[in-house]
Amino acid sequence: MSILIIGAGHAGGAVAANLRQLGSDAPITIIGDEPYLPYQRPPLSKAWLKSDVVFAAVGLRPQSYYEQRGITLRLDARASSIDRGAHTITLASGETLGYRTLILATGARARRLGLVGEDLPNVHVLRTIADADHIKAALVAGRRLVVIGGGYIGLEVAASARLKGMDVLVVEREARLLARVASPPISAFMQSFHERQGVRFQLETGVTGFDVRDGRVAGVQLSSGETAAADMVLVGVGAVPNTELAQAAGITCSNGIAVDLEARTSDPDIFAIGDCTERPLLHYSCRARLESVASALEQARQAAAAICGGKAPAPEVPWFWSDQYDLKLQIAGLPIGATRIDVRGDMEQGKFAVAHLDGEGRLCAVEAVNAPAEYMAGRATIGKQRAG
Ligand SMILES: Cc1cc2nc3c(=O)[nH]c(=O)nc-3n(C[C@H](O)[C@H](O)[C@H](O)COP(=O)(O)OP(=O)(O)OC[C@H]3O[C@@H](n4cnc5c(N)ncnc54)[C@H](O)[C@@H]3O)c2cc1C
Repeated sequence: MSILIIGAGHAGGAVAANLRQLGSDAPITIIGDEPYLPYQRPPLSKAWLKSDVVFAAVGLRPQSYYEQRGITLRLDARASSIDRGAHTITLASGETLGYRTLILATGARARRLGLVGEDLPNVHVLRTIADADHIKAALVAGRRLVVIGGGYIGLEVAASARLKGMDVLVVEREARLLARVASPPISAFMQSFHERQGVRFQLETGVTGFDVRDGRVAGVQLSSGETAAADMVLVGVGAVPNTELAQAAGITCSNGIAVDLEARTSDPDIFAIGDCTERPLLHYSCRARLESVASALEQARQAAAAICGGKAPAPEVPWFWSDQYDLKLQIAGLPIGATRIDVRGDMEQGKFAVAHLDGEGRLCAVEAVNAPAEYMAGRATIGKQRAG
């Protein structure tokens, strides 16, 4: 009856706790390839870079929690294959572990550009505590940071670097920031807010290579033909789901490991949760891969309920947030099916919300900047209007 969880991240840690809360007394083992107990990643691009945040502030639960509940943690251990017929997994060490139920919570990894020089020590990505520690040590006043990618992580690091007094250039391939994840008014507002803090932007600009000098990247070659001088580079160009284990085992994958509303994969004994999955979104009658804590936690509850034979949790409206300087951006819903937007509040004062409405006037999504009441109300409205 044992339950094996691969991935000791937000989703993996949460599902173990959910299983115990629902009364499961099965032996539970979590396999994680990082050396840490399950922790939250959002602070890594925010508070972690700005202040002396210690692990206890980002860890999901203390070690004693797992010990007291009989949850075994195998850290610094990597699962390298799944044998579905034998109901076993093999670790990189060669050890084999059996399971009755397997939960894949393998998350995602930072996407790389594939350019020569990308592995040099002053070129960073941000996914783990180890990455965040390296970045934090390199954020030194007066140094030049080139951020490649104007998404959430790039902008959050840019904000922290400016607060430390660095010279910051953000290079973005698209014509606007946050192009994949936010509306044009939010992109424009964020750009001008960052510019007022001294961040420079080069939009519609790709990166073609790195200038390497003395074992470090000294410049970023741009598609415009220019080279941006750099003491440090952050590559923030998205994340790739860790689906290889599932794929090699013949589990159906598309843009992530395909799961149903119970977080079950194409193998009924194997569940998948979090950033590694492509999941159904009931409120929007579609499937998508979401990279958010809220989605990981919701799927952890779905899987735990299905495994314990409990009542399925009510579907949640997707939500997300980002902190930059003293701006709090909160997003509820997805703009799928929206035909118009309505900006409410005071953009000049940095307190406003963008509502996305469909042809029948129903709210699809709301993006709120320093407007938590608008966000909460929007989230509740979407839940009511789009239920079923
Ligand atoms: C810097 C940063 C900022 C973020 N900010 C926000 C935010 O503001 N709001 C928000 O909602 N979301 C944010 N996110 C996204 C959020 O952190 C993720 O959605 C969440 O961590 C997903 O949890 P997960 O457990 O699916 O994946 P992860 O937390 O990535 O955990 C997966 C774990 O599995 C391990 N693993 C993978 N393969 C194996 C294997 N074969 N064997 C053993 N272990 C394995 C990985 O190393 C990792 O430790 C942010 C992410 C980052 C990186």
